[in-house]
Amino acid sequence: MNVKVCKFGGTSMATAQSIRKVIRIIHKDPLRRIIVVSAPGKRFKEDIKVTDLLYTLADELIRENNASTFELVRERFLAIAKELRVLTPMKLILQETLEQMQKIKTQEFIVSRGEYLSAQLLSKVLKFEFVDAGTLIRFKVNSVNYKQTDTVARRALKFKTDVVIPGFYGTTAAGELKLLSRGGSDVTGALIASAVNAKVYENWTDVDGFLVCDPKIVTAPALIEVMTYKELRVLSFMGASILHSDTFFPVARKGIPIHIQNTFNTRSPGTIIYQTIPSSKRGMAVTGISGIKDYDLIVIEKELLSETVGIDRKILSFPEKMGVKVAHLPSGTDTFSMLIESKYLPEDKLNQLIAQIRKGIKPNLIEVSKNIALISVVGRHLMTDNLNMLRLFSALIKDNITIKTIDYGSSGVNIVIGVNGEDYNYAIQAIYTEFYLKEDDE
Ligand code: ASP
Repeated sequence: MNVKVCKFGGTSMATAQSIRKVIRIIHKDPLRRIIVVSAPGKRFKEDIKVTDLLYTLADELIRENNASTFELVRERFLAIAKELRVLTPMKLILQETLEQMQKIKTQEFIVSRGEYLSAQLLSKVLKFEFVDAGTLIRFKVNSVNYKQTDTVARRALKFKTDVVIPGFYGTTAAGELKLLSRGGSDVTGALIASAVNAKVYENWTDVDGFLVCDPKIVTAPALIEVMTYKELRVLSFMGASILHSDTFFPVARKGIPIHIQNTFNTRSPGTIIYQTIPSSKRGMAVTGISGIKDYDLIVIEKELLSETVGIDRKILSFPEKMGVKVAHLPSGTDTFSMLIESKYLPEDKLNQLIAQIRKGIKPNLIEVSKNIALISVVGRHLMTDNLNMLRLFSALIKDNITIKTIDYGSSGVNIVIGVNGEDYNYAIQAIYTEFYLKEDDE
């Protein structure tokens, strides 16, 4: 369909003033005809999101049949409705919603009403049709049924124009309401964009888009204007997050770009994520730098390890049996290493793991280095020019940063470098400076 699916997050839906910005954005482009919304978020730092108020309300209603928190929810919606001149219909909808909550007393139903009311309100203001997410998003027990959602939503929206849809929930085939995980309205937008084969999925939030690296480490880093799904996946896997992690798959599968934009700063170009980047957009050698601190590096050495069929699988079965996730496996001749996030390995578990490896494969040596930080340097052009590797490693070496491990991976879009925890910030600064602040860059 020649349509843009636009999702507006909680901050965009928080006040009458922010909703006026939302309306201006929608009216600016006639293709913005399918709108997905979150429940009103925080208006100021100490404020409580409507979704969190509803979790409290669900507790009250289910345990004590008491609905006092509903008054806070009602007040929030009525204050917005009054300013946007839809007070009378919203009063009625709020009353009906409370009565329904008292009847269908499940946590999922009660919590879903934040998005429901938010979409009702916006549809009244815009004079768009309200289409319930329960008729579009299909669940099989507790997870989304992608195939069914695709068919059901495509059919339901085929002849509709100008609609507002609540994010965050759907129903099973039996009609039971189910919630996505927190932040799930992003996923609703992606599912709808995929079902209608939208031109683009616009995700409107309160930040300009993805930054090249963490602004707490580098002051005012550049904005990533374009990247591929693969780059985004790799960046998000190692710490960078704006979107719910399940957002990519439905849209990536159909090659629909995601455009992240800031409701409060429409002058910023935002970040566009493509399956394949149009050739007119060249991009830098390094697209982004993300990372996670606090890994344990376990190095195992054993004679003829590389010649022993099945030994890698045997070693990996030890953390697997303990339910411990292994993040990376940088290995060499007769050595096998595992990088595991320290949070999964408290001391007793680490000792247990080492004891099992010792008993299971009788290594010549087993060594553990703690406090390792991993940095993922991501770029679709990174590997296409050897000079980039030279620049990357000399930037680190010039700053006296010891490289503890390297995982070249095979994704073709990133390289993972392990450094000592104390060097983490310096290493990111050095890489950013080399690729973004040196004049001779492209
Ligand atoms: N309102 C829900 C939450 O706070 C869902 C969303 O905003 O996407 O998680």
